[in-house]
Amino acid sequence: MSEERRIHVLDKVTASKIAAGEVIDRTSSVVRELLDNAIDAGATEISVYLTGGGIKEIRVIDNGCGMSREDLDICFLPHSTSKLSSADDLFNIMTMGFRGEALASIAASAKLEITTSENGEIGYGISIDGGKVTDLGAVKANKGTVVSVKELFCYLPARRKFLKSPAAETSASRTVFYEKALAFPDITFKLFLEGKLTSFLPAGSLKKRIADAYPSLAPEKLYHQVEAKCEGYSVTILFPGVEVVRRDRRDIHIYVNSRPIQEFALVQAVCYGLSAYFPGGTYPAAFLFIQIDPSLVDFNIHPAKREVKINNLPMIHRTVVEALKQHMGELQKPAGSTDALYPKDEEIPKTLSFVAEKTQMTFSPAAPSSKPAAPAGRSFSNLLKDKPEVVSFQPSPEYKGDFRYLGQIFDSFLLCEREDSLYIIDQHASQERFYFDLFLSSRPEVHQLLIPYNIECESQVKELIEKQLDKYAEIGIIIKKDETGQLYIDAMPSSFFELKNDVLNLLVTQTGDFENIKTELYARAACKKAFKAGDAIDYDKAIDLIKKVFAMPMPRCPHGRPLYYQLTKDKLYQLLERTV
Ligand code: ADP
Ligand code: MG
Repeated sequence: MSEERRIHVLDKVTASKIAAGEVIDRTSSVVRELLDNAIDAGATEISVYLTGGGIKEIRVIDNGCGMSREDLDICFLPHSTSKLSSADDLFNIMTMGFRGEALASIAASAKLEITTSENGEIGYGISIDGGKVTDLGAVKANKGTVVSVKELFCYLPARRKFLKSPAAETSASRTVFYEKALAFPDITFKLFLEGKLTSFLPAGSLKKRIADAYPSLAPEKLYHQVEAKCEGYSVTILFPGVEVVRRDRRDIHIYVNSRPIQEFALVQAVCYGLSAYFPGGTYPAAFLFIQIDPSLVDFNIHPAKREVKINNLPMIHRTVVEALKQHMGELQKPAGSTDALYPKDEEIPKTLSFVAEKTQMTFSPAAPSSKPAAPAGRSFSNLLKDKPEVVSFQPSPEYKGDFRYLGQIFDSFLLCEREDSLYIIDQHASQERFYFDLFLSSRPEVHQLLIPYNIECESQVKELIEKQLDKYAEIGIIIKKDETGQLYIDAMPSSFFELKNDVLNLLVTQTGDFENIKTELYARAACKKAFKAGDAIDYDKAIDLIKKVFAMPMPRCPHGRPLYYQLTKDKLYQLLERTV
């Protein structure tokens, strides 16, 4: 065996070049880091100049706090930061930067020049080339800092080869520019390409910033703003109503503590919250901003801080879903309310209006009580039409009971007298519950599909589905994979046939919670199969349904609403102010 050592510690220059690659992989990462620094410096105005796609030069000018000469001397050294002094601080990060790696990485990858002034009078400038200071001295400078990065990767030719065309690099940087600008609407942002001002985002409200940054999405007045606050975090969601429909989730943007992140679960939360309004295969556009107590998040797991570990993610998920549902529920109030869900006709882009119509049809009335009652003559038409007979039955060992069926009212409710109460039974909800329980307790009969349904989804979702194929099979949904890796539904129970879109939609928008999918599917299938409000029901069916209702251990529909209203004799006397 050779005595010679094969392992050696890398020299500083090589090590810093490797580290640089972690933080800076293309021009847009430089733009991201320089914007972060300007934001951390408290700037109220930030300008970004890109020349030659940023490969020739990236220059960021801010009017922030600037640096002293002493700080300028060391700001580009590895691990030099003013934002963190001990490891404990890592759990209380309020700034965008904290690792002191950006300027060091840039200095190792390009020619770097910084001029800075704390007061707008005396300023200092430094030039670094190939990691070495080539110039340092006093200069005239405005308050703030100008950082110029030239010839990116000129000392890392292997990496330079991976840079794309100037147009593609510009496009990636522009995306970063808008992403950052979105999180800081109080700051004015300008973007100059080849010296020409191409984007001007003046400081203003968050709504205005989103509309300014994404003008093709929707005008400012269409945006809804939903807020929710909980212990340790707050949530703000902006979305341009149901008339803006996307074919994928790409326009759902998530920010945690002002950083754009990729967190699939939160994208899903937005989809769930609005799922009633976006039929199968369509998605909302939305901007979700979450502020979390810094001790509950860890951004130190990804070099570009694109990923985050969030301690109470499930709770936040729930908050987002509920806040959206509640907001949309509130907006279903009758027309005339000022903040109606639907914009005035002239505000709806004509090409998309079909979605609004379709969505509107799926709404159920806000509250049954607000619906005008059917004319009295009709509603009591079959009440007491035959002499009511007493029905005896034994629903369960604990209960022995008789009831008297009195008839149907409003084509929706069954009336029945039992013991000392009048029961007003919701025929739809009751039958829905019955079918729901039936589905849960029986083995599904599986039918081969003539044309298999392809499951078009993102790779994360695909993984989730693949992990639970056997569970889907248990409820009769047989999912297979073709030779190209495409997942498809090969067979399913006939009770789901009418729910093809729901099945696909639930599959592709899931977060891996199989039980939730199962419950939702059974609830929807039961709903489809049950009598509808408005269906006339003959005597035998009514008796049969009432027996089932009284035999249920939990008289609530799959969504938790009660199946009947019980009016006791005492209560009735009280209502009519009778004493005997
Ligand atoms: P980090 O942001 O993680 O601290 P950087 O390498 O990005 O690390 O920056 C190092 C330090 O240089 C910062 O902590 C800050 O003190 C200073 N600095 C960088 N850019 C600016 C700027 N635009 N204005 C003021 N100070 C800056
Ligand atoms: Mg930084």
